[in-house]
Amino acid sequence: METVLQIDGVSKAYGKVKALQQVSLTIPKGSVFGILGPNGSGKTTMMSIVLDVLGADAGTYSWFNQPPTAAARKRIGSLLETPNFYHYLSAVDNLKITSAISGRGTDQDINEVLEIVKLTERKKSKFSTYSLGMKQRLAIAAALLGNPEVLLLDEPTNGLDPVGILEIRELIRRLADRGITIIIASHLLDEVEKICTHVAILKRGNLLTSGPVDEVLSNEDIVEIAATNMQALKDCVAQMQNVLSIKEDNQRMQIHFPSGTANLEEVNQFCFNKGITLNLLLNKKQRLESKFFELTND
Ligand code: ADP
Ligand code: MG
Repeated sequence: METVLQIDGVSKAYGKVKALQQVSLTIPKGSVFGILGPNGSGKTTMMSIVLDVLGADAGTYSWFNQPPTAAARKRIGSLLETPNFYHYLSAVDNLKITSAISGRGTDQDINEVLEIVKLTERKKSKFSTYSLGMKQRLAIAAALLGNPEVLLLDEPTNGLDPVGILEIRELIRRLADRGITIIIASHLLDEVEKICTHVAILKRGNLLTSGPVDEVLSNEDIVEIAATNMQALKDCVAQMQNVLSIKEDNQRMQIHFPSGTANLEEVNQFCFNKGITLNLLLNKKQRLESKFFELTND
């Protein structure tokens, strides 16, 4: 797979604060790549470095398999912090100014990016009349000027209500469908789980793990079961083949199987054959949230 961004051993400190420590990461072309981590874990620092807004103390990075150049930079769109739009101007006029300053995009492009972010109908309205979600979509439209191949978004849903979040999510999906590689920094696990193909998890400047979402999130299948006689159930489960581990809590039992091997019917049949009738049988995919806490807890 083609690589869009390669980061090798990047470190950055602010005085005593080690914001990034020897971070290495590969971002494949066409991915929706989530940089996940709690506040203060180094996400914005990392994005600022690869956008050349901030210098690293150590390490290197390359875009499109080349050392970073102004030409490569033109192929990257970004939204690091909310841009300053003029409140009394319309979306179109604001984008004209952004375009003139950045040297990216034509009038035709402005119409196209407004269409992509679904602001065409309101393009003549003053910025001050926009909802927070519309403002954020206009900011993404500005980042899309010049037709970038990669888009970096730092916490794109911050401060938005559920409808606004949904609209951004749908927008990111549409952009991904167009073949744009998208890199999103977020502290919202749910967000990343819903839209990302790949994920990297940062904790206090250290990269804990990275890779395709399904690999990072789950290397185990979990089946939850219960029966009236939990002791009998325990004895029964102890005889099951292919079980990695068993956990028990609140009158429920969780059986961990290797990824892709859990089969509810087989579990049910196995217990029934041993004289146990289950009153609960659930397939519990390990959620990103539990994985995230598992990884970021001390
Ligand atoms: P995130 O984006 O994941 O919330 P940041 O990259 O903003 O994390 O910050 C990482 C760490 O670096 C935090 O401890 C933060 O307080 C610190 N930090 C960030 N920017 C500065 C700065 N300009 N000066 C001093 N410390 C900073
Ligand atoms: Mg940040």
